Amino acid sequence: MTETLDIKITKTPHSRLAETDFSNLPFGKTFSDHMFVADYADGEWKNFQIVPYGDVSLSPAISSLHYGQSFFEGIKAYKHADGTVSIFRPDKNAQRFNKSAERLCMPTLPEDIFLQSLAAVVDIDRDWIPTQPDHALYIRPFMFATDPFLGVAPSTTYKYMVLLCPVGPYFSKTLRVKIENHYTRSAEGGMGYAKSSGNYGGSMLPAKKATEEGFDQLIWTDAKNHEFVEEMGAANVVFVLDGKVVTPSTRDTILDGVTRDTVLTLAREWGYPVEERRVSVTEIIEAAKNGKLDDAFGAGTAATIAPVGSISLNGEEYFLSDPKTREFSQRVLKEMNAIKYGTTADSHGWNFIV
Ligand SMILES: *Cc1c(COP(=O)(O)O)cnc(C)c1O
Repeated sequence: MTETLDIKITKTPHSRLAETDFSNLPFGKTFSDHMFVADYADGEWKNFQIVPYGDVSLSPAISSLHYGQSFFEGIKAYKHADGTVSIFRPDKNAQRFNKSAERLCMPTLPEDIFLQSLAAVVDIDRDWIPTQPDHALYIRPFMFATDPFLGVAPSTTYKYMVLLCPVGPYFSKTLRVKIENHYTRSAEGGMGYAKSSGNYGGSMLPAKKATEEGFDQLIWTDAKNHEFVEEMGAANVVFVLDGKVVTPSTRDTILDGVTRDTVLTLAREWGYPVEERRVSVTEIIEAAKNGKLDDAFGAGTAATIAPVGSISLNGEEYFLSDPKTREFSQRVLKEMNAIKYGTTADSHGWNFIV
């Protein structure tokens, strides 16, 4: 890191920690005592602050609300048995943060400012990190445009903020998923590779329809012909086909996930053949029919490893094996958790110690 960030810290006089029920933590509803805030104006980042979590006052004309100059990140911090606090691979998120910023014509944030902001706010709220199995402190950095101007143009001012949420497991069951072949999440030349807020707004109607049909998640396909598999909900999708680990190759329609990279890195080290390539819907359905789809799961920070129980295409449902019996996803989940919670050596240097 270059130099220590000058952060003005205002602590809350009323911590909500004691009154928070850590046995009931629905995702993203419980916020810690503090948040990080910074402003961009006159071509630079300034006013680095940690303040009590709470409302912010903004003009109703801010361009993020009207034109969607807004994006976010999702990261987790963990507490080890000896009290060590670590954040998992935040350098990757710092890089992706700037890819999103560039795509949305927004200012980049120096990676060391990103890392220091996370470390500072997590440090202050370290008692908010849950210690139960499979729990963590979810970190939500985000940036949005704040010019009070209704003209369609890139804003000249922005806010960068970081919120913290203690969370338990995102999915508690095996997922029933549907291959979506009407709606699309992103198209070539679009912004699917950015963690841009608008991508999620557009995915809610198709997701709601799928839920009404009894599914838990969608598998997105390419915008042109719905011929190739791209992602699963807001996670990457990984298959084990006839002993090979197969996942769609990243492109501008796919978000390059940190969990995806972690899974593929471990798979290669363990000697699995790994294929990053276009994966057709037909190939997955044929494999499922012939009993060659050994494993399928979503991979993401919030969802971790989310096993797929069945895949449906045009009303036909294909069932996979019991997730507990699947060799690859069980092994990968166990190893990732061991690294994150500090019960095995972090030989990759993935844990950023706070
Ligand atoms: C966040 C996200 C992922 C997962 O990325 P991670 O870095 O593993 O959390 C995958 N796809 C989409 C669309 C996402 O928003």
